[in-house]
Amino acid sequence: SYVWLNGAIVPATEAKISAFDRGFLFADGIYEVVPIYSGQPFLFDAHMERLERSLREVEIPQPVSRAHWLEIIAQLHAHAPLEHAVLYIHITRGAEFPRNHLPSPNLQPTVMATLSAFTPPVGSIAPARATLMEDIRWLRCDIKSISLLGNIMAKMAAQQDGSIEPLLHRAGRVTEGASSNYFIVKDDVLITAPADTLILPGITRDWVLKLAKKNGISVEERPFSVAELYAADECFLTSSTREIVPIGTVSGQLINDGQCGPITEKLMTCFRNSRPKAVKK
Ligand code: PLP
Repeated sequence: SYVWLNGAIVPATEAKISAFDRGFLFADGIYEVVPIYSGQPFLFDAHMERLERSLREVEIPQPVSRAHWLEIIAQLHAHAPLEHAVLYIHITRGAEFPRNHLPSPNLQPTVMATLSAFTPPVGSIAPARATLMEDIRWLRCDIKSISLLGNIMAKMAAQQDGSIEPLLHRAGRVTEGASSNYFIVKDDVLITAPADTLILPGITRDWVLKLAKKNGISVEERPFSVAELYAADECFLTSSTREIVPIGTVSGQLINDGQCGPITEKLMTCFRNSRPKAVKK
């Protein structure tokens, strides 16, 4: 497989970065993940806006323009012809010796990108299981930081509990998953946590909110509690690679009857219909 690294495509086994890269030493960097359906990046501008915002928030200069990213995707595609793919973008502040928390000005960011195979979800309504957990992460979860230890610890604990994802809360207020956003439905209203600093503003989250509004479903972006979650009619999670996954059980407790609810199923259908389609040749 191949990697785009600092301006050139190289075989993955030959891609090398400095041992003093601040990404390696401090997790001083940000990332982005863009799903590509039939060669077409989905919600590309929204992903780029989030990437550019993450860079601004941590004061790393933007090293690659949107137009350049499209060229890089084409170059990577030329080396790995994948029908559907996931673009991974990784940008760190750069390398510097000796190690020092405070970065020198004018470092050259390290930029890496890969394409990997992606199987778009088939839209199974089989309900999944999540595990409720305290959110132990930092307080700037709106930045898509490569520092993911808190997310990884939660993910491992969820797996040990037989779940596909943790469901994180802060003092009883539901935030998000380790790599997903959560929604509940109560009395036909779709509810999800507000896009503040406690969650990553998911691109899928935003798209699902738009789809819901377009289809006459009432939406509320507001804090909701663990108690509201357990009293909900429906629950699901969203992410770029998993799209919409119905959640039937949280920490062993059923949400309603534990099945995929009608609004979740409707949104799953709307979502599938909104994905980029193969261009007929
Ligand atoms: N929340 C976190 C912490 C994430 O890491 C992710 C994605 O990986 C999401 C939410 C979902 O975001 P998106 O829909 O943009 O994939």
